[in-house]
Amino acid sequence: MRNLIPPYDRPPLSKQLLSGAWDPPRLALRSPAETRTLGLDMRLGTAATGVDPAERLVHLDDGTRLPYEFLVVATGVRARRPSVPGADGTDGIHVLRTLDDALALRPRLRAGRRLVIVGAGFAGTETAATARALGVEVTLVERSALPFARVLGDTVGGFLTRTHRAHGVDVRTGVSVTGVQSRPGGRVGAVLLSDGSMVRADDVLLAVGSVPNTEWLDGSGLDVEDGLVCDRFCVAAPGVYAVGDVARWHHPRFGTSMRVEHRTNAAEQALTVAHNLLRPDRPRAFAPVPYFWTDQYDVRLQAYGHPRGHDQHVLVEGDLARDPSSSPTEPATGCPPSWPPACPRARCAPGGKPSPPAPRGRRPRPRRPPRGPSRRTPPSRPLTWRMPDHAGPWSVLACPGSGVGTRGHGP
Ligand SMILES: Cc1cc2nc3c(=O)[nH]c(=O)nc-3n(C[C@H](O)[C@H](O)[C@H](O)COP(=O)(O)OP(=O)(O)OC[C@H]3O[C@@H](n4cnc5c(N)ncnc54)[C@H](O)[C@@H]3O)c2cc1C
Repeated sequence: MRNLIPPYDRPPLSKQLLSGAWDPPRLALRSPAETRTLGLDMRLGTAATGVDPAERLVHLDDGTRLPYEFLVVATGVRARRPSVPGADGTDGIHVLRTLDDALALRPRLRAGRRLVIVGAGFAGTETAATARALGVEVTLVERSALPFARVLGDTVGGFLTRTHRAHGVDVRTGVSVTGVQSRPGGRVGAVLLSDGSMVRADDVLLAVGSVPNTEWLDGSGLDVEDGLVCDRFCVAAPGVYAVGDVARWHHPRFGTSMRVEHRTNAAEQALTVAHNLLRPDRPRAFAPVPYFWTDQYDVRLQAYGHPRGHDQHVLVEGDLARDPSSSPTEPATGCPPSWPPACPRARCAPGGKPSPPAPRGRRPRPRRPPRGPSRRTPPSRPLTWRMPDHAGPWSVLACPGSGVGTRGHGP
């Protein structure tokens, strides 16, 4: 059973909500009045438990069988909860996916408290930055040798790691958690690591990824494989579409199936699906240039493209060699005031040649990749996108071998 909170935005959970700068009502995606004007039959607190695509029926946990003409699957993901010896039933073990999760962690983040974060992905590192700004002693435990390197390359991974260390985070890489020790009374007391060390903890945040919410589709005949599998029009079966974190769709530009857990992608994919529902005679393929941002300390990192598995990551603007300790420790300035985020005044520069600045307020679109075999072969020299700073002192972008359409060979 889900709770009765109206739909809310998740990116502020690890930033403004956790820092205390915002309270829950500010996260609402729409005001009650706006929601009323939509005339939705919104059934909060009700879970879908099954679907019968042949009969076009959705089963709900209150026993209702809901007929549909079109079904949009938008059930997102949930936090992965790894099995850690000693963690079950121990107080002070957190995940961060929902408003309730954030509200449970928020009062624990006080100066002098010790927080161990397991996993240096976006949720883990953003929480580390927010917690440091509140004076919490943070240890960040990461299994890989360099956080973010797999996704963003060594340069940016190194920069972010240095930035966290400069702000006082104890970053421990190349180790994993082997157990949790609790104190008398059942609250967590320490985390045990694979190198034999022990880190004292008042709270532990498990930030080790997510799992698509697809179990309710079991037995439906829909193709589920790390997300609901769709074609390029986001169609999973006749009359069934998927959007957002749960959707694994065929991206026609990249020529591969993809599932993207970023806010802008969810909004853009919803627009495409809405169009396809309304204009089945003229469906649009969903072929965005993926975009994400993350706010940590005074750093806003933004990336366009599919920055995985490339040979080279080239910084085209900003100075990653700057001493990160010169960044003051202060709460992340957080999300852009509007959604999706306003775009930087970008000049896309394939081959390093700047094109004229995009008109103000319009989302820049990188050029299409060349047709032909170059799509499948790694580029001989990197294509880079320039992203002038627009949001603070550290709007930087490190680019993969190609911003769009071409997949380089990973290490
Ligand atoms: C802490 C945090 C920070 C983030 N920060 C950023 C950021 O800085 N930048 C960025 O780009 N992205 C960020 N994201 C990711 C972004 O929030 C997601 O990409 C976005 O929320 C995806 O939207 P969605 O609608 O696909 O899924 P969700 O927002 O997860 O919504 C899915 C909904 O479906 C409901 N549901 C699940 N199963 C069922 C069922 N069987 N029946 C009925 N309802 C069901 C869920 O309860 C949930 O309310 C962040 C996410 C988190 C958790």
